[in-house]
Amino acid sequence: MPPACWARRWGQAPLSRDRRLRRAALLAGVAITTPAAATLPLASAARTLNPQPQPTWTAAAAAAASIDDLTPARVERFADKHGRTFAVGSDIAGIDLSRYARIVAATIHGDEIERVQVLVATDEQLVDLCGRGAAACYYGADDGSGWGQINVAASDRDIRHSLLHEYGHHLDNQLVGLGRGVRFGQLSCAVGADGSRRWLFARERQSQIVARRRVGCSASTPWRRLLPELFAEDYAYANGIREWELRLFAPPRRATLAALRADLARPFRPRTVVWRGRVAAGGALVRTLALTAPTFLRATAEARRGLRLALSLARRGRRVAGASGSGASERAAALVPAGRYQLSLRSLGGSGAFRVRIELR
Ligand SMILES: [Zn+2]
Repeated sequence: MPPACWARRWGQAPLSRDRRLRRAALLAGVAITTPAAATLPLASAARTLNPQPQPTWTAAAAAAASIDDLTPARVERFADKHGRTFAVGSDIAGIDLSRYARIVAATIHGDEIERVQVLVATDEQLVDLCGRGAAACYYGADDGSGWGQINVAASDRDIRHSLLHEYGHHLDNQLVGLGRGVRFGQLSCAVGADGSRRWLFARERQSQIVARRRVGCSASTPWRRLLPELFAEDYAYANGIREWELRLFAPPRRATLAALRADLARPFRPRTVVWRGRVAAGGALVRTLALTAPTFLRATAEARRGLRLALSLARRGRRVAGASGSGASERAAALVPAGRYQLSLRSLGGSGAFRVRIELR
């Protein structure tokens, strides 16, 4: 089966992707509504690895295609070795759901496993959920909850790869690669379609995905060039899958995989720091910033009337970014690798209170 996939739209963001979708155009007309927050009761709780008192199925894939009853006939709750639980459900009578749960529980994962549920579908259901020609797909909520549903087919003969790939999309839905409103070259992506931060820059070093405009993250990007698909396949690779399907790119190098693992262990989170103080006439102050991942840094200084400021950013004594502005409102911005930086603020004239807003995005 040739590799292809599709980022299906849910609201404004590409949120679900199908693995190996041959005829992506078929999906274009499928409407998916906002997920309902309600959880639905469990039909049966037999054969769980670690039975939980109230297993639930979240309507994360609400109104997808023509599936009328979104709660599978049977839902079982399973746990990973740390006791984090997740649901697997199916309408298929007698199916052994623990087989799927074991694969999911054995992935490289964190607490986000508790925000995923797996639907093991019939072939017909999978077409409804993922489109014709898709091997599997993922629905991710774009409400910031991180909830998602993996849809796979019971007939899938490559089920481990499918589950790992789709779990990669689930991780993408948790992690910030670029983040909202951040542009990097041609890329400006939804959180669920932007990979993860250290991985993104490691992949850039390996494959010049941005410098050579090799990837995109919009609905019009072909599957084989989609950034979230590259992330999902790199994640599957990190889990031991050696069947490499994205022929336009080389498989991930060790450094790329290490960056991905670092993102899972210590996710990058955008933050804003406000630095307030007073500066004497002709005086200077320094604030150290310890950045653990590549960061889009922007510092904006606001001064009282009569005070003129200069901002600059340095690393190991070397200037990384200077400021531009009137002196009363100064701004320094740079895309910087991980490291320790010194943000300096100098009075060019006058003394008094200042406020520097440091956006680490
Ligand atoms: Zn995919």
